[in-house]
Amino acid sequence: MRKSSIVRLLIAVLLLGGVWVAYTFQGPPASKLDTKKIADDLYVIHNEIVPGNTTVLVTTDGVILVDDKFPSDVDNIIAEVKKITSQPIKYVINTHHHGDHSGGNAKLQAMGVQAVSSENARRYMVDGKQPGLTNIVFTEHMHIYLGGKNVELFYYGKSHTGGDIVAWFPAQRTIAMGDMFTWGDGLPELIDYSGGGSAKEWTRTVDQALRLDFDKVVPGHGLMATKADLMKFRESTVTLRTKVHEMMVAKAGRADIEKMLRKDFGFGDLHVGASLDGMMAELR
Ligand SMILES: [Zn+2]
Repeated sequence: MRKSSIVRLLIAVLLLGGVWVAYTFQGPPASKLDTKKIADDLYVIHNEIVPGNTTVLVTTDGVILVDDKFPSDVDNIIAEVKKITSQPIKYVINTHHHGDHSGGNAKLQAMGVQAVSSENARRYMVDGKQPGLTNIVFTEHMHIYLGGKNVELFYYGKSHTGGDIVAWFPAQRTIAMGDMFTWGDGLPELIDYSGGGSAKEWTRTVDQALRLDFDKVVPGHGLMATKADLMKFRESTVTLRTKVHEMMVAKAGRADIEKMLRKDFGFGDLHVGASLDGMMAELR
């Protein structure tokens, strides 16, 4: 898919509320997937930019996934998991409600998979009339134990949306962050204000994740990263909101702020559409 059509698709997914359901059921075409090994029992099913990354933990009692891309991708995700293990998928954790991270839920749930998210993320799914609502939710912290292994889930506050969580795999020293952390060119932070996101709170939310014990980070979009990369990204969340706040104080107009965001922070149409007005209201 060309980048411009990816952006158009994401705008539709993010900004049209309930309309995205019909849109995503007709397309987008399935992405080409590429599975990367992180540890003996941990993998990432990666693709170019959109949809989001899927993390796979393999245990002797079944498989735990983090995020399941669009509906059109889920059959290919299942096929990738089968290449790794004959164990069935037991849980899918949604880092947040967006359709490129939770679109596979309905199909997986029909296979008996339990779908897990923060309570806030489920509320946004209900508001957006999304299929495949999560059936297990938590407010701050939960563990999933399976086959002698475990993943810990944390809700720390607002960032990309109001429902983003961090999944920590302690034995593998790895965290999966969803779109609280996107990594690479053309993937600046996207604040989805209509989904409860906050540029102001984003840094504090990432700071809490940084207290966990880990080396590797699975970003929502982009290639595998390190703790040092996440710290760099954390600094960029400060720079971004400080710059917008300073321009607001200096009474800069919307067009000037938009121009700065496109030039200095790589904002595209999607980012401007989802984030600009909200940032101007929040960071005045
Ligand atoms: Zn997202």
